[in-house]
Amino acid sequence: MNDTVANSGVCAEKLRLVTAYEADTNAFAAAVTNLHEQIGTSSKGDYFRLRQRVDEARIKSEHSRLALERHVESHQC
Ligand SMILES: [Zn+2]
Repeated sequence: MNDTVANSGVCAEKLRLVTAYEADTNAFAAAVTNLHEQIGTSSKGDYFRLRQRVDEARIKSEHSRLALERHVESHQC
């Protein structure tokens, strides 16, 4: 099983995982920025929801990073 893109040497699955990881990392950074912008101006409930969003984005980006690491390790790409 080899899904390496012909003649380019780039693994298609790795490329997909890197793109997903970058998107999730950017989403996490945006959530953190949003949270910091809202500090002092939002209600406790709003702040709590923003914190939850940051946590969810952080977990998602960590999963994406692990998926990428696991792929690179098993695929040696
Ligand atoms: Zn690969």
